[in-house]
Amino acid sequence: MKPRAARFFLVPCFLLLSLVVGSQSLAQGRAAATSRPPLKVFVSVDMEGIWGVVHSNQCSSDSPEYQLARKWMVQDTNAVVQGLFEAGATEVVVNDSHGSMRNIIASELDPRAMLISGSPKPLSMMEGIDSSFAACIFIGYHAKAGSAPAILDHTISGAAIYSIKINGVEMPELGINAAIAGYFNVPVVMLTGDTETCRQAQELLGQSLVVVPVKEAVNRLAARNYGRDRVLAELRDGARKALNSLKNIQVFKLQPPCQFEINLQNSQQAELGVLIPGVRRPAPRTLTFTSQDYLEGFKLMRALIALAGVS
Ligand SMILES: [Zn+2]
Repeated sequence: MKPRAARFFLVPCFLLLSLVVGSQSLAQGRAAATSRPPLKVFVSVDMEGIWGVVHSNQCSSDSPEYQLARKWMVQDTNAVVQGLFEAGATEVVVNDSHGSMRNIIASELDPRAMLISGSPKPLSMMEGIDSSFAACIFIGYHAKAGSAPAILDHTISGAAIYSIKINGVEMPELGINAAIAGYFNVPVVMLTGDTETCRQAQELLGQSLVVVPVKEAVNRLAARNYGRDRVLAELRDGARKALNSLKNIQVFKLQPPCQFEINLQNSQQAELGVLIPGVRRPAPRTLTFTSQDYLEGFKLMRALIALAGVS
């Protein structure tokens, strides 16, 4: 509705004054609310490294054991989200990063957090990250293929991948994903999983990384899970500590050119990938390529892994 000038002059002065003062204090209030600098945190949540999980049945939606494990997944996540907001986070984005990527029960996630759910997603386990985030956290991560003792060790695809090397270094998922965060100048500040995954994370990303081990593997399919109350408290404390020590943690960046080496489980899995221009096959079950841009290389690697599954 348009304001009417004639009526404006009939408004008593005190009312006009109170309107002006009122609008000023409202504006000041808004300014105060927006003056707090944004502190956005990106959280990627996998499932194998969640407390209580020791078997792939617990991570597969066709098993009755899955329903309990996905509750543990959201509980671990909520403990971290709670700690992040206590430490001053203004926004938390949680990306479901396991399998179908529809594991986290949306209505049970801390309602202050945004949930990215479903797949496929262009950046997969890192979908949603960009340079507006101050920090990145990995929850429920697992060790690279070939680790022991480590719960459900694998790298991206247990059926297709024997190992992945980037610039000559064998990478767990946590390293591949940390380099995506690094591409956007976002440091990884915290990781949770079994003790071996925590060790691999600090080895690759530095000892300043806050790690919260939730279990210790006996072998690939058995673990000593730490007490639930203790774990939830440590996840919350760890998140607070990680955000408070943000300045001490370096961004993990891979310098281009990035040389990718994908070692598949068998030679058949390399048959379709090698048809792509720029991809070489130096050994029967090995595909290699070089990318000047890490993110482009990551996407080609994902496509090659998908082709391995249908070769
Ligand atoms: Zn997973």
